Amino acid sequence: MSDYALKVLEGLKQRNADQPEFIQAATEILTTLKPVVDRHPEYEKAGLLERYVEPERVVMFRVPWIDDEGKVQVNRGYRVQFNSAIGPYKGGLRLHPSVNLSIIKFLGFEQILKNSLTGLPIGGGKGGSDFDPKGKSDNEVMRFCQSFMTELYRYIGADTDVPAGDIGVGGREIGYLYGQYKRITGLYEGVLTGKGLTYGGSLARTQATGYGLCYFVQAMMKANGKEVNGSTVVISGSGNVAIYANEKITQMGGKVVAMSDSNGYVYDPNGIDLAVVKQIKEVERKRIKEYVKAVPTATYTEGCSGIWSIPCDIALPCATQNEINEESAKLLIANGVTAVGEGANMPSTIEATKAFQAAGVLFAPAKAANAGGVAVSALEMSQNSLRLSWTFEEVDNRLKDIMLGIFQKADEAAKEYGVPGDYVAGANIAGFLKVAEAMLAQGAV
Ligand code: NDP
Repeated sequence: MSDYALKVLEGLKQRNADQPEFIQAATEILTTLKPVVDRHPEYEKAGLLERYVEPERVVMFRVPWIDDEGKVQVNRGYRVQFNSAIGPYKGGLRLHPSVNLSIIKFLGFEQILKNSLTGLPIGGGKGGSDFDPKGKSDNEVMRFCQSFMTELYRYIGADTDVPAGDIGVGGREIGYLYGQYKRITGLYEGVLTGKGLTYGGSLARTQATGYGLCYFVQAMMKANGKEVNGSTVVISGSGNVAIYANEKITQMGGKVVAMSDSNGYVYDPNGIDLAVVKQIKEVERKRIKEYVKAVPTATYTEGCSGIWSIPCDIALPCATQNEINEESAKLLIANGVTAVGEGANMPSTIEATKAFQAAGVLFAPAKAANAGGVAVSALEMSQNSLRLSWTFEEVDNRLKDIMLGIFQKADEAAKEYGVPGDYVAGANIAGFLKVAEAMLAQGAV
């Protein structure tokens, strides 16, 4: 690594010693930016990396709400507005008990480059809370969302910061958040994306991250003389990203044999019946183990990491960060995996990523491969501004073009900077160059 990037990384580690996920994301990004920093000495003169690794603003707040027993509960809310060099902050809200500042900062930091790669004018941000929607009634979720927005509304807006969904935040939560924003501000504006179709949502937003992941993986495989058609696929998770990755990869001719949740995984050698998964997860909000009741030929195994012991050609981790460690990566490699596409954010540890790349496995990093969700969110913002709704096909075609464009940018940057086939470095470099130029042009702000 260049001295400059290394110096900034060391400083970041000292200032954020209690934030392991943020340090992990920053280490990966700064390491791959070495050739860029070497080629652009003006970045160091402008203190560009020091500014780039520090969020423009972090908001932390109390979220009090009343449960169904009439008791006051208190959660902690976050919004990290990381970088607005190329557009208003944009990034999802995560509701999960594991949420803390480190996780929100790593997600916001990754989001800067992801959003840049889409080619659309959106900066990077992320937010959420340690609230756990699992096991809560609709009314409890509504009261939580209303309280969360009663504080958050001060910091967001259609031209300043536009949150969306992430783990634990789907259409139901976005609806409650939007209703409260409108009630407080009196504004009917595109302040959130992932909205319902009756109040400004975009067709194909629900499908976008999963579909986009498959478009990217297909482009990557094609460029390397391989194809999705006829391959066996393992997908972790059974949430929004996992379900629509399954749908698209199946349409492309792949066979998905396993899916999971945070309790365990199901293995169905005949191919997962996605209608059953949708019924369990989207309608009944139950656990994946229910699948074997509907499909008795399938098996359920407790514990989620075992899913990576199932032989497959394509692995699509679509659950959460660090779900594939070095051991799981080596197991996948030994079982002949040819391509890995990250649907979740940072699902592979740094050691796992290195193992895949060393073994010649085609590796599609999250910030490129899962950018379809935020890309269609940006298209939702465009439709809201225009007061128009595009058809499903129109949005899906734009999504496809964007994902192919991202693959090309990552591929070309990797070649130009001497690391052909390294899509991790390629994506980081291509995304960073645009943000860096915009930051330089705007002065030391
Ligand atoms: P959902 O809440 O819809 O689904 C999450 C899935 O992952 C569930 O099956 C959940 O299981 C599982 N999961 C969550 N936490 C853990 C954990 N700690 N260990 C094991 N499994 C876990 O979220 P999404 O599908 O929206 O998000 C999945 C990933 O994709 C996240 O990393 C997110 O940041 C990323 N992403 C999402 C985008 C989007 O548009 N939604 C866009 C880009 C990235 P359980 O139900 O048991 O909790």
